[in-house]
Amino acid sequence: MTVVLILAAMVLGAVIGSFLGAVLVRLPDGRSVLTGRSMCDTCDKELVPAELIPIVSWVIQGGKCRACGSAIDRWQLAAEIGGAAIGVIAITLSYFPIWAMLLGWQLLLLALLDLRHMWLPRQLTALLGASGALFALVMGYWAEDVMILVQSLVGGVFGFAALWLIGQGYKAWRGQEGLGGGDPPLLGAIGLWLGPLGVIHTLLVASLGGLAVAFVLWRGGQRIAPDTMLPLGTLLAVAAWPVFLWQGL
Ligand SMILES: [Zn+2]
Repeated sequence: MTVVLILAAMVLGAVIGSFLGAVLVRLPDGRSVLTGRSMCDTCDKELVPAELIPIVSWVIQGGKCRACGSAIDRWQLAAEIGGAAIGVIAITLSYFPIWAMLLGWQLLLLALLDLRHMWLPRQLTALLGASGALFALVMGYWAEDVMILVQSLVGGVFGFAALWLIGQGYKAWRGQEGLGGGDPPLLGAIGLWLGPLGVIHTLLVASLGGLAVAFVLWRGGQRIAPDTMLPLGTLLAVAAWPVFLWQGL
């Protein structure tokens, strides 16, 4: 593994992360992501190329717009750093780096959207599922093993059904919605990537992650009630990627 390749993956990841950051900021407002110039969200000043370098521009400008001095959205920076990290980890750890990146970047966007807006857009979940089915199709064709495709489909159905049933059970027990409506489709899409065993592992890792987050919040002085809302979609998305990497080892 050459350093050049790792650096290339990092730069590509930062650029993709920059785009995902724009999606994260613009999509909930109904603004177009593909058209329109990059501009400051506060003063609408158009950004020159030197202000568009992911991470680097943020550091040089001290996280502020050069025209109006208002703080640049930290979510943008988080998306860029996350995107770069996914690129580096995928190229160094995964046997299927391109697929790992494709999965990782989609999960990053969904995790941030759910964390920031409690929103998992159906189109993005559908895209995640479709790319998972494509992954299984390519892998199955390459290995001449139809079982890979079957595993993917079973994983998709199992992921959706498991969380949907948990949600129905919670509703019957507590008399209120315990899950976001976007969570079962998300785990279904993850199941298409990971298969049924991967769904179980993702649920386990997400549960442990949720407990860890609750513990940290509790130590930080936050009140944790049984119905405290943790963004389950974020936990699932963050858990699914290491499970994918681990499955591919
Ligand atoms: Zn500005």
